[in-house]
Amino acid sequence: MRIDARTRLITLIGHPVEHSRSPLIHNTALEEQGVNAAYVATPVAEEALDDAVAGLRALNFLGANVTTPHKQAVRPLLDAESERAAAVGAVNTIVRGEDADGEPLLRGDNTDVAGFLEPLTAPDLEMQLEGEEMLVFGAGGAARAVAYALLTTFRPTRLTIVNRTRSKAERLAGDFALHDARDALRVTKPDDAARAVRTSRLVVNATSLGMHPNTEGTPWPHADDFTEDQVVYDLVYTPEETRLLREAAARGARTIGGLTMLVEQAAAAYQQWTGQPMPVDVVYEALRSASPSAT
Ligand code: NAP
Repeated sequence: MRIDARTRLITLIGHPVEHSRSPLIHNTALEEQGVNAAYVATPVAEEALDDAVAGLRALNFLGANVTTPHKQAVRPLLDAESERAAAVGAVNTIVRGEDADGEPLLRGDNTDVAGFLEPLTAPDLEMQLEGEEMLVFGAGGAARAVAYALLTTFRPTRLTIVNRTRSKAERLAGDFALHDARDALRVTKPDDAARAVRTSRLVVNATSLGMHPNTEGTPWPHADDFTEDQVVYDLVYTPEETRLLREAAARGARTIGGLTMLVEQAAAAYQQWTGQPMPVDVVYEALRSASPSAT
């Protein structure tokens, strides 16, 4: 990668950021396509967020990604946001454009929504999932993007949110009532979720259970509840095949791992910064060869 006086920068704003895969993903794609831009990761403390966002404007950045703990706090610092970012209540991507007077304009988006949906848009799957019962483990930032994506895309008859901290699940259900035309949202304690797990066509893990190094973790240890009629989707991508996916696959369920979402949410941001589709094949190759045991 050659850096010169025309190189545009993109940064990840978060704390911590050192373990992020986003620099590898984006720099691989930028280099592959000969785009004169570079992606860095900058740790930003909570009290420095305003200055960091002002820097994006002043320093002619192409844009940024935003991660924990700034995904909500960054919203009022931007000039505009997409409908999905407003609905989810979190921004993970900032695109720097200009207004009619040439002044910098920062627009927030939430590409986790599109990234999550991408593997579910295979025509056979889309038909299977329309109007079905679904269940999401978790009520954090990722679960909010998932719930919004499922409600607005598949209009499920039932969408059960299962979370350790019930109040967070209730808040999520309350926040999305507007998008819940079928009154599908329900909140259930993990101990009471067996029936909903069995009757759901799609089961999503949006908790961090199962993530490296605690790879024996799973949001649902009762593997007998899974069947071949189900799709089990784990947002965790380290390891690439989690315990949840392994056990669901052994019962014949169709499984989807989190690596696709990781790459596709990045691709949706990359397209907005560069105007080009991300060359995802080289990105997968780079990710798998960077840490074959972890992914
Ligand atoms: P978050 O906002 O911190 O939420 C974490 C969620 O996990 C909460 O629902 C939390 O429950 C639950 N949880 C954590 N530890 C738990 C435990 N020991 N037992 C039961 N529940 C537990 O995090 P997030 O941003 O939503 O991310 C969640 C997961 O999704 C992470 O593993 C992340 O890597 C993954 N993710 C993947 C992608 C992708 O592109 N593939 C994108 C985004 C996120 P409480 O509310 O009870 O604390």
